Amino acid sequence: MKKLLFSVCVIITVSALGYVGNLRWFQCKYCAIIVRKSSYPVRTECPNKEGERHYWKNLGEVGEIYYKCDSCGTVLQTKSKPLSGICIKQNGNYHKWKREYRDFN
Ligand SMILES: [Zn+2]
Ligand SMILES: [Zn+2]
Repeated sequence: MKKLLFSVCVIITVSALGYVGNLRWFQCKYCAIIVRKSSYPVRTECPNKEGERHYWKNLGEVGEIYYKCDSCGTVLQTKSKPLSGICIKQNGNYHKWKREYRDFN
């Protein structure tokens, strides 16, 4: 007995919809959590600041170049030098981005 194969190949690539905009790095200026999104992340409750929500700072577009903050050690891969953002290790001052050269042996 043959069964008809329904090729229901409607695999909706929901994740692809997230790529409509370019991916960016966002960091919360209170808790320093970093997320990668194409738009501003939802401001859920921030664990580092009682009664407050995450306060997202856009740090730049996701890319291939490594940048590391001299103060807090955060490493990002961006297309160009990340925006200053706010570094929690700097008491509310800016990140100190330095380009990192990484070798792949
Ligand atoms: Zn936060
Ligand atoms: Zn920093």
